[in-house]
Amino acid sequence: MMNETVQKAINEQITLEFAASHVYLSMSAYFESINLAGFAHWMRVQSEEEREHALKFFDFVNDRGGRVMLQAIEEPQMEFASPLSTMELALKHEQKVTASIHNLYNLTVKENDLPAQNLLRWFIDEQVEEEKNADDIVQNLKLIGNDGTGLYMIDRTLAGRSTADEDGE
Ligand code: MG
Repeated sequence: MMNETVQKAINEQITLEFAASHVYLSMSAYFESINLAGFAHWMRVQSEEEREHALKFFDFVNDRGGRVMLQAIEEPQMEFASPLSTMELALKHEQKVTASIHNLYNLTVKENDLPAQNLLRWFIDEQVEEEKNADDIVQNLKLIGNDGTGLYMIDRTLAGRSTADEDGE
């Protein structure tokens, strides 16, 4: 039987992952609207990845004989000022998710839930990657400043991001 406190916290994390997925899809729509198809594609893949994260927790709760309780997802921000500020927001969002994952891990230690700790160690590593990926794009955008050719080149690079399925993740 699943630890009730951990189950409740994981259900909240599921909501956070779905909310992240929703935010990134909204960012993808913004990038589509300003004709940056590569950024739009990158955000769409990111959105799918967050959904996978939510489902990883979803499956874990079910496998442990717990009960998944889905919650409402907030309406995402829809208008953004620039590619740079959008990517900075995405990075901030990942930092928020990282803090939540760390809190969740600490809770599973306190509750002595070893299987949940194993699952969360995967997420701790994943968050290092997520923050790095978003930060790399932020740094590239800062480097090019207002250079349109640079923006075009970043967009072309981001268009090449493979989907989670292609990565085998
Ligand atoms: Mg995530």
